[in-house]
Amino acid sequence: MKKSENQKMEFETLLQHFAEEEKVHHAVVQPLFQNSLFVYKTAEEFVDRLKDRNRWDYSRVANPTIDIAERKIAQLEKTDRARLFSSGMGAITAVIMFLTKSGDHVICTDSAYGPTKIFLQDILSAYNVETSFVDGRDVNAIEQAIKPNTVMIYMESPGSMYFYIQDIASIVSLAKSRDITTVFDNSNATPFYQNPTEFGVDFVIHTVTKYLGGHSDIVAGVACGRDEQISLMEAEIAVTMGANADPFAAWLLNRSLRTLAIRMERHSQSAFVVAKYLESHPKVAKVFYPWLASHEGHELAKKQMRGASGLLSFVLKDDSKQNTFQVINNLRIFQIGVSWGGYESLAIPFATSGVINPFASESTEERWAIRCSIGLENVNDLLNALDDALKQAK
Ligand SMILES: *Cc1c(COP(=O)(O)O)cnc(C)c1O
Repeated sequence: MKKSENQKMEFETLLQHFAEEEKVHHAVVQPLFQNSLFVYKTAEEFVDRLKDRNRWDYSRVANPTIDIAERKIAQLEKTDRARLFSSGMGAITAVIMFLTKSGDHVICTDSAYGPTKIFLQDILSAYNVETSFVDGRDVNAIEQAIKPNTVMIYMESPGSMYFYIQDIASIVSLAKSRDITTVFDNSNATPFYQNPTEFGVDFVIHTVTKYLGGHSDIVAGVACGRDEQISLMEAEIAVTMGANADPFAAWLLNRSLRTLAIRMERHSQSAFVVAKYLESHPKVAKVFYPWLASHEGHELAKKQMRGASGLLSFVLKDDSKQNTFQVINNLRIFQIGVSWGGYESLAIPFATSGVINPFASESTEERWAIRCSIGLENVNDLLNALDDALKQAK
């Protein structure tokens, strides 16, 4: 593409062309720079190499293939800069370590991704950083948890498992009034359906392993934010901690991003059809999907999101372990495994007592739910598979 064409582009066009003006040997596709270092012809050139951002040095610090992914994702998230990491947890831990020091206090939504909570609770606490986990749906609870030494509010919306929605604008305005930095895990909605920086969020994080990668063949993560903050975070934490992305993962990511918009549209359309089907099924007690009117966060979701992804959960009327496991075991097409956001549909059981339990007041018995990641298969095949599995259920 000619440089003069690099004006305002819509999301789908950015995915195809942004940050790809320079064509190496006229090749339409960007090459993979799978090298650890860059070499220079003279001692003078070597000593001057870092004066120019287009000169490269060492791939733990920066690499041209990784740079394309970073520039593109920063643009999609409407931020200045992005830093790619070797995993979502690499991005999350780097940003949290950048923002906190001994003696600080942080607030985290209790429906956040499990390993994020483990990092705050078990690892950061050993460095004298204290975390309060609060119900992210309750802005008052967040306000009450604020202490004089609170430096960060960590959000994830939709949250994990039940997809609880947080009121981003209200939480950010509260944080800003107290000089607290906000960090947001936007992995579920992706920048296609939600841009937290439009509400003033400071740092946006993604696991690339899920929708951004989309093909279940990459483990990577990314942190986005304002130029000066991401640059400082790189200089003070990321480059030294070394959770840098591998160029090949970035190259696969650059390829995967081309289809992010059309993949998300399909995930979303199919998940909505599946959610509606499950909601009307006589053997299903409850479906959790933010785009269903019955989801408790639906109104808020419509305000701050442009759509919902392919993740949903449901509970059977007979939500015993035996019945729930049997449905999963009888499901054709859906595979059983962690992660989500790939081309393939997945279904896993989870004990509703293990995470925030929406039925806690109703009973003390162990109850089970099913989380599905709706893939890119034909939705009628998915509906037939669910129908057959539910026919055999109690
Ligand atoms: C999987 C996941 C992560 C962690 O990403 P990895 O690439 O596995 O390290 C972070 N946040 C959410 C919401 C996730 O689902």
